[in-house]
Amino acid sequence: MIWIRRLPVLLLVLLVSSAVAATPEVRLVLQITVDQLRGDLPLRHADQFGKGGFRYLLEDGIWYSNAQYRHANTETIVGHTSLATGTVPAVHGMIANVWLDRDEGALLYNVEDGRYALLGKDAGVSRANEIDPTQRVARSQGRSPAALLTSTFADELAARHAGRSKIFAVSVKDRGAIPLAGASGKAFWFSKASGEFVTSTYYYDRVPKWVTDWNEADKTRRYADQSWTLLRPLEDYQFGDRDDQSWEIDFPGYGRTFPHPWGEGSNKYFTTLLTLSPAGDELTLDFAKTLLLAERLGQDATPDYLSISFSSTDYVGHLFGPSSLEMEDNLLRLDRTLAELFRFIDREVGLEHTLIVLSADHGGPEAPGYLQELGGSQQYVDPEPLSVEKLNPRLREKLSIEVDMVKATFHPYVYLDRQVVANSKRDLADVQRALAEILEELPHVSTAITATSIEEGRQGDGPISEMVAANHYPKRSGDVYVVFRSQEFINDFDGLVVAASHGSPWRYDRHVPIVFAGHRLKGRRISRPVTPYDIAVTLANVLGIGAPSGAIGEPLIEVTR
Ligand SMILES: [Zn+2]
Repeated sequence: MIWIRRLPVLLLVLLVSSAVAATPEVRLVLQITVDQLRGDLPLRHADQFGKGGFRYLLEDGIWYSNAQYRHANTETIVGHTSLATGTVPAVHGMIANVWLDRDEGALLYNVEDGRYALLGKDAGVSRANEIDPTQRVARSQGRSPAALLTSTFADELAARHAGRSKIFAVSVKDRGAIPLAGASGKAFWFSKASGEFVTSTYYYDRVPKWVTDWNEADKTRRYADQSWTLLRPLEDYQFGDRDDQSWEIDFPGYGRTFPHPWGEGSNKYFTTLLTLSPAGDELTLDFAKTLLLAERLGQDATPDYLSISFSSTDYVGHLFGPSSLEMEDNLLRLDRTLAELFRFIDREVGLEHTLIVLSADHGGPEAPGYLQELGGSQQYVDPEPLSVEKLNPRLREKLSIEVDMVKATFHPYVYLDRQVVANSKRDLADVQRALAEILEELPHVSTAITATSIEEGRQGDGPISEMVAANHYPKRSGDVYVVFRSQEFINDFDGLVVAASHGSPWRYDRHVPIVFAGHRLKGRRISRPVTPYDIAVTLANVLGIGAPSGAIGEPLIEVTR
């Protein structure tokens, strides 16, 4: 009766195999990025959230409360590309929102590409109402992911399924969508010039009909002549008695206190003002829902990918700072937007078939004015002494030379004119060092690190220099990396003034939330230190596919089990 004695083993095998079969397949990977959502902000407001949004993530998700980037330049394109590729800018190449194109001798915006024209209504529209200082640099409205140097999670998914996985990325910002779509997916972003979602000829020959239909429905119209008002009674807010803070930005017609009017639909700033409020996220969600239905994402066993990057938190943080009534209301409204997204995904795909990950591209600082009220002495950094015009005479004097060697400055780098340096027969490393010494004498500069010292591996082994090195890609990075003192930064970009600006290697700019949810994951809070580079590797592990080509992250074992 051997077969009877084997029965328990057989049963066990049957039980195990049925348990495996019962684990639902992942039909959709939903990657959410909240621009400038510092790691502690959702926890600060945890008691105020409603049902199904952040509360769902906090209770049913695996929440990492100590996730930090390990690169120095905590800017939008750098963070989004790190989320997509699982690696640092030294490897993926997106070292800054703007860098000096040494071949062209001109500044370059990260995803600009004159070969791939913008597809949508705003082609040729004046950029007069562009309030994003980095976008002002772009010489062309053409966009592509050509500057990404390594593959993304989305690219690996495309390769695994021979292109059958549907891959899309959406954001108000082009740089919030393009890196996540990778080379293989399709990206859409919001044109502030036209109030429509646009793409480029890199992705399509013609705009899909559902996009045209969405744009023609003119969903921005319902915000015309309306205002951003508080979601709840004033007494429900932690910052309810601080609506009018002196350091907040009084954007023309928008003001420093609630209600913030969006103005008439014909006002040239109307669509820009929508993005400076939770309305930008609401429009992004509406477009993403239409996309999911039109493209039938998550409907079969071949996993699809949707990236949604919400930008309102970043704009609100820049204008009002994280400790403001505006940020508090923005987060409560973002919570509602997330709840609506999860309800929609559950209905159309099923949360058990959806692997959700939410993180941020960077954190953000407090406004110096806020810290001063609490006893601090932080100041904004005056950009003038860092200008080409001011640095050149100082470098001429220091090196006893007749020529101007500083070519350009754009956060966080100062660039030398390498041709002028070569012609002068001076050693590049010596000139870089002299420039760094001049920069380090400036009042708000904490440290200035030269490119040569990084390339020769002698930048120093402190944590800041390691993160500056992790940001260094020789063909694009500048000659000197400038780090300001903690909680100090430039707030005036050619007359565009902000209350708070991220981009530093300090912890508040590197600290972001990471939370995985859906796909029958069980809620946990994890405090061990992890990095956002782990996300792409973890997603690849769960799906059993290859990790992106430059990935340095580790799989998060609480998720991969
Ligand atoms: Zn920002």
